[in-house]
Amino acid sequence: MTDHHATQRYRRAGAAGIVVGALLMALTVVALPWLKSLALLSPAATGGSVLAARLFLVALGAFVVIEMPLLLVVLIRMAWRNFPPRQLNAIHFLYTLSPTFYGIIGALLTGVAWWAPLMWALGLVRILSSHFAIDPSRLAQKRRESTQRPAPRAAPDLATIRAFVLDMDGVLYRGNHVRDGAVDFVRYLAQREIPFVFLTNNATRSSAMYGEKLAALGIEVPPSRIIGAAQASAEALARSAVKGARVLPIGTDALRQALAAQHFTLVDGPPADYVVVGLDPELSYEKLKRAALAIRGGAQFIGTNPDKTFPAEEGLVPGNGSALAYLEAATDQPPRIMGKPSLPMMQVALSHLDVPASEVAMVGDRIETDIVGGQAAEMVTVLLLGGVSSRTAAEQASPPPDFIFDDLGDLLRHYRAARHDP
Ligand SMILES: [Mg+2]
Repeated sequence: MTDHHATQRYRRAGAAGIVVGALLMALTVVALPWLKSLALLSPAATGGSVLAARLFLVALGAFVVIEMPLLLVVLIRMAWRNFPPRQLNAIHFLYTLSPTFYGIIGALLTGVAWWAPLMWALGLVRILSSHFAIDPSRLAQKRRESTQRPAPRAAPDLATIRAFVLDMDGVLYRGNHVRDGAVDFVRYLAQREIPFVFLTNNATRSSAMYGEKLAALGIEVPPSRIIGAAQASAEALARSAVKGARVLPIGTDALRQALAAQHFTLVDGPPADYVVVGLDPELSYEKLKRAALAIRGGAQFIGTNPDKTFPAEEGLVPGNGSALAYLEAATDQPPRIMGKPSLPMMQVALSHLDVPASEVAMVGDRIETDIVGGQAAEMVTVLLLGGVSSRTAAEQASPPPDFIFDDLGDLLRHYRAARHDP
């Protein structure tokens, strides 16, 4: 039922309460002579104190019988968002009707008929107040607001960070040039024994190959601290796959090695349990055909990373996302992405650190992958400028990154200050 229909029924129930109440009022006026004979406040009744007691008891009884359950239900309704609408309408009907009973009780007590319409008029006030309190459309709006608003989160503090996940391209280096502060930052983490890993969406190189590249730039780290999209995909897949499952890889040797290291059985064509697609500089129609046939044959379609293009010296050239789009068109199946910003890669990174996500900083230069991925994994997010995303883009992001710094040198200065480590 839509909010609009819920509101209409709710209002109809309220209107029905008013109409029934009006009919009862009319009956009360007609029955006035009889009510006068019953009137508890008439001189025919016994002494004043007895009358006062009766009055008190009747009023209290009416209040408990009619008001308390309704009040309770209204309060429950306000707290319990999914209260069944049908019951809500029945309660609303009674709620608008209840002043009528006061009117009848009033007439019964005094023998004066105008008591009844007077009390009934109060029902109009009642309808307005209940409308504002429990109208379904207003509650639906509240519900939307409460689900849209992100859960309140304590403002992050750099001092609470106990581990780092660092994007590579644009954070540690740009092309073949190391970025300012990168060497010092990594040295500081090693000296203070602060756990860290490097994370890249590139699936064409192995961790050892990245280790060599970083060493040439003056950053010495063991390959175990470097997680590429090939390794992350293989590790993430190994968590859910049956041991020895058949994988048809499309990609470089780095991808084949990463999958073999997780004990998958590599196949060159269908049948397969998984087709894992990473950037392949030697991609051919023949490879795409085998992959498409395997996916049509029931294999799960996995993409290491979604990047449609990447910058090269010649300009923007096709990335892995372009091959994924080709296969999606050929199989009518979307790929399951493992790399940033998807959770599998973030979870693999966190599993290498053994520190709760809320105390891990994800440091990157691209909002759509690094920052969005870090936020999805509930990490603290740090955007470094001078790479892909600008400060303006970061400030307009929803939600924006927790911190914005110029480079790793800038981050190191603030981190040391926050830790009181001069
Ligand atoms: Mg980057």
